[in-house]
Amino acid sequence: MTKRVALVTGGMGGLGEAICIKLAELGDAVVTTYSPGNTKYREWLSTMNNMGYGFRAFPCDVTDFDSAHACIEAVTKEVGPIDVLVNNAGITRDMTFKKMTKDDWDAVIHTNLDSVFNMTKQVMDGMVERKWGRVINVASVNGQKGAFGQTNYSAAKAGMHGFTKALALEVAKRGVTVNTISPGYIGTKMVTAIPQEILDSKILPQIPVSRLGKPEEIAGLVAYLASEEAAFLTGANISINGGQHMY
Ligand code: NDP
Repeated sequence: MTKRVALVTGGMGGLGEAICIKLAELGDAVVTTYSPGNTKYREWLSTMNNMGYGFRAFPCDVTDFDSAHACIEAVTKEVGPIDVLVNNAGITRDMTFKKMTKDDWDAVIHTNLDSVFNMTKQVMDGMVERKWGRVINVASVNGQKGAFGQTNYSAAKAGMHGFTKALALEVAKRGVTVNTISPGYIGTKMVTAIPQEILDSKILPQIPVSRLGKPEEIAGLVAYLASEEAAFLTGANISINGGQHMY
């Protein structure tokens, strides 16, 4: 059986790496993107290679439609048509609305939301033609409940799910599913860099499970959504947040 090709945007980040590893362990040929200015991708590929994961990486600025097009064209030519797309790349630029500039707004909307259009647009026709595909959009609990200082991020992540629902309807008959996952606080470098006293006093008390999520737990959910067994699951927004927000 030929391997499925899975593309994970931002696969070298905290969650992305765990997702790449999980999909590879399940037998997919895993490809990730890196920002064109990222000079550390070779080091990451070599570390992963030493761990036994032969990932491929392609430059892609997910905010740029032409860059997304060139990336998917190269992946399709060198690895094969994409069966599973995980729209995971994302950034934050947190500040109150009063202080937020147009640049802060645009950067977050372009990277978290426009990217979903830019990437999905390149792969959807092929998935529909082959009558099989999985698109998994990584949003956030803060797109579901809102968060102080995150009007840009909450808007982008909520927007991702509107996209998911509409596209899921359009391709449901064609064997293609489109879903959103909304993680809560996950123990990636971004979150573990928060001082322990803030974690203990402000963050952990909000989480009924009383701990941060693990990247592997997010990866497990992505792997399920990408599986054959998940064929009946589409247009959903799955909360994975330790009970922090029950939606
Ligand atoms: P990281 O900052 O570790 O990784 C983000 C990734 O996005 C990086 O690999 C980065 O690649 C990539 N990226 C950013 N901008 C661009 C761009 N313009 N073009 C291509 N790639 C880009 O974040 P996490 O792993 O923590 O988060 C992954 C996703 O999960 C994000 O969408 C985030 O919003 C979401 N999330 C994370 C949570 C958490 O607790 N960590 C909780 C809820 C949601 P490069 O370094 O090459 O620029």
